[in-house]
Amino acid sequence: MLAPSVERADGTAHTLGVAARDRYPAYIEWLSDRTGVSVPLNRLGVLQVALSPAGVKGLGRSANPGTQWLDRAELTDLEPSLSHALGALYSPDDGCVDNVRLLHALDVLLSQSPRVRRVAARVTAIDATQNSAGATDSGGARYDAGHIVVAAGAWSGQIEGARFARAVLPVRGQLVSYAAAPCRHTLYGPRGYLVPRGGSAIAGSTMEQVGFSAGTTPDGIARVRTAGEEICPGLAGAPPLAAWAGLRPVTPDLLPLLGTDPELRRVVYATGHSRNGVLLAPLTADIVCDLIFEAVLNLNISQYRPDRF
Ligand SMILES: Cc1cc2nc3c(=O)[nH]c(=O)nc-3n(C[C@H](O)[C@H](O)[C@H](O)COP(=O)(O)OP(=O)(O)OC[C@H]3O[C@@H](n4cnc5c(N)ncnc54)[C@H](O)[C@@H]3O)c2cc1C
Repeated sequence: MLAPSVERADGTAHTLGVAARDRYPAYIEWLSDRTGVSVPLNRLGVLQVALSPAGVKGLGRSANPGTQWLDRAELTDLEPSLSHALGALYSPDDGCVDNVRLLHALDVLLSQSPRVRRVAARVTAIDATQNSAGATDSGGARYDAGHIVVAAGAWSGQIEGARFARAVLPVRGQLVSYAAAPCRHTLYGPRGYLVPRGGSAIAGSTMEQVGFSAGTTPDGIARVRTAGEEICPGLAGAPPLAAWAGLRPVTPDLLPLLGTDPELRRVVYATGHSRNGVLLAPLTADIVCDLIFEAVLNLNISQYRPDRF
């Protein structure tokens, strides 16, 4: 999901989320021009669906200037599968992207680039001085670099020398997909969400602190199915197409560690994006480039200082 209006952060973090969302169309076009891979981007908006009078009240309280309340008739017009709902809060500029196609496009792009060498290795340590930086992998190989970007997701804190990344912890999320495609919009319900993906739909997700265990559980999958099927009852009883889980890199304030190590300017942190790493990825990449090339930043990133914990 690309949903900064729904998963709303405070202050400049909200501005960053909105800028990241609005960066997507040009980014997708740029990738497609270079790779021939088209990445489906859905900007039809996100609907937060009210399924009870208490839900109507709660959503009313979270409305803000960018959102619009849709009554039952308006909602059914927009999304016929929601005829059981009492209304919805509509965030018209949010949406979702097909992250699997996106990763495929990036894979194609990088495999074509003569300037990128990819190494399948696990970095165990990084080090840096004022003038140089380097990484060591689990086989003992050494990689010298102008800069190091710490971007190892939930595992960032395991890398020796990435001292601020200790604040990043893994939080598991389980997901289920269905062969049916009951909705065109990204939908949030009281307990989870439903994302349209081509001819299918994905329901999510749990937030579980279970270390680095990345498997699914019967209880987690049951909870995700309940969350998705209460949003679209038409899915009830449909056998899931697939179930899987991932680990989010989560920080205590759910905001990324994004910036240069204040003492070692050759180490840049771009990790801890928590629940919004897909949303923030293209803008994070822009910011990392600007930091490395010491360009003037267009956005205030002081809220994400890597040493704030
Ligand atoms: C269930 C679920 C639902 C989500 N939904 C959304 C959503 O709707 N919208 C959104 O914006 N975000 C969402 N997220 C969050 C998003 O997926 C993450 O924030 C994002 O993937 C973080 O990107 P990353 O590149 O920092 O880490 P990752 O995507 O985890 O990538 C880290 C990479 O580093 C590699 N790595 C790890 N350790 C090492 C090492 N020592 N050496 C070398 N390589 C290493 C890993 O193999 C991996 O390839 C969701 C996450 C989950 C789990």
